[in-house]
Amino acid sequence: NELASMMDIQVNQIIATCMSLGLFVSINQRLDAETISLLAEEFGFKVEFISAEVAAAIEEEEDDEADLSMRPPIVTVMGHVDHGKTSLLDYIRKTNVLSGEAGGITQHIGAYSVKLESGRQITFLDTPGHEAFTAMRARGAQVTDIAIIIVAADDNVMPQTVEAINHAAAAGVPIVFAINKIDKPNANPDKVKEALANMNYLVEDWGGKYQCQEISAKAGLNINLLLEKVLLEADILELKANADRRASGTVVESSLDKGRGYVATMIVQNGTLKVGDMILAGLYYGHVKAMFNERNQKVNSVGPSEPALILGLNGAPTAGEKFNALESEREAKEIATKREQLQREQGMRTKKHITLDEIGRRIAIGNFQELNVIVKGDVDGSIEALSDSLIKLSTAEIQVNVIHKAVGQISESDIMLAAASNAIVIGFQVRPSMAARRLAEKEEIDIRLYSIIYAAIEELKDAMEGMLSPEI
Ligand code: GDP
Repeated sequence: NELASMMDIQVNQIIATCMSLGLFVSINQRLDAETISLLAEEFGFKVEFISAEVAAAIEEEEDDEADLSMRPPIVTVMGHVDHGKTSLLDYIRKTNVLSGEAGGITQHIGAYSVKLESGRQITFLDTPGHEAFTAMRARGAQVTDIAIIIVAADDNVMPQTVEAINHAAAAGVPIVFAINKIDKPNANPDKVKEALANMNYLVEDWGGKYQCQEISAKAGLNINLLLEKVLLEADILELKANADRRASGTVVESSLDKGRGYVATMIVQNGTLKVGDMILAGLYYGHVKAMFNERNQKVNSVGPSEPALILGLNGAPTAGEKFNALESEREAKEIATKREQLQREQGMRTKKHITLDEIGRRIAIGNFQELNVIVKGDVDGSIEALSDSLIKLSTAEIQVNVIHKAVGQISESDIMLAAASNAIVIGFQVRPSMAARRLAEKEEIDIRLYSIIYAAIEELKDAMEGMLSPEI
């Protein structure tokens, strides 16, 4: 049936031709490649086979440099629990004094955009924390341009601060530090700066390259200065987009709303999205029926780096999924069908992650230059020793990167980071949590557990030389 409609002939003709070739087929029969070629030839067509991956993907044309203009930065706030992520996002959202616009942002739609006095804009992802950040990245989404890492000055750099820094670094996202709670009598910003310096993150006022601002999220102190530093960082990045094309971007949140049907918050990353456009996000599509901004106002078009709540999709796409505006419903439907097919055939995962067994083979065929490793252990000393030794295994062909190391059991967040950065996880004298183990199975992440440093180093070395004996 599908083949008949592609060639625009009656399906009966195909069935009849099959019969004449000695094949008895039903209308929904799947034909093999050879039969398809043979049949097509009978009707004067030539067949070109393309992979299912290609059929399910959307080709995006590169923009001409001349069509590009500046776009606002998209920012994520990360840091240790209780250091003030939510307070900072709330302060910026609620006051919005900076724009002088009447009425703060009342809705939580997963992202919001603020305009500063200078007229420049910043978009914030409204789900703070590195877990959300890395979960999106594990699905292939690169949304964040700049990370604000918040550290409480009455506390210090804490384990989740380190995680947040490493998650941002693994994504190659520049960091601006916000040292929070300076209104507190026991605040000691220098202690925080010193701890950062010890991690090789030297802040600007100490002669380093990392921008840093002392703030109070609660009192609203110096927030404007922090945002200016974010914009300075954005200037260095020269963030650009072409507003004059069909939109593409990323899904930030989605849900089924009782009254309105499926709603999804999307951030446009290139182009302009308009009401009426046909969009496809993952497996779902539909005409954009209406769009709302974070102030619950109806909008008709949404430009680069701007978020909007969108009505009109026929399902709820996963956060982190890419969306594209397409020419027609037919095209959207066709690609959605291909994606469903692909998912059925390959299971949910399309991307396989690296395993120790595979490293040698991949190095041998020469398409592997970096090996990312996450090291968790029971004591700091052995983690340092092991990490140093692993990095020293780097050769001219392959660079070993320890993208995160910390004391403690292997957590879900470690697995998510491994999935986003295609890393393997090494546990020294520690084990994964139940949840981490389950996630690792689902994401196909290689976890290796050791109790002797030497054994870990030897095994990785053997793997890199393609000499690892297969696991039994
Ligand atoms: P999160 O867990 O990182 O999102 O932290 P929250 O924003 O929830 O803040 C944790 C606690 O610290 C709350 O009780 C806040 O009121 C408080 N807090 C946040 N920022 C400041 C600040 O600048 N000064 C003071 N004194 N308290 C703050």
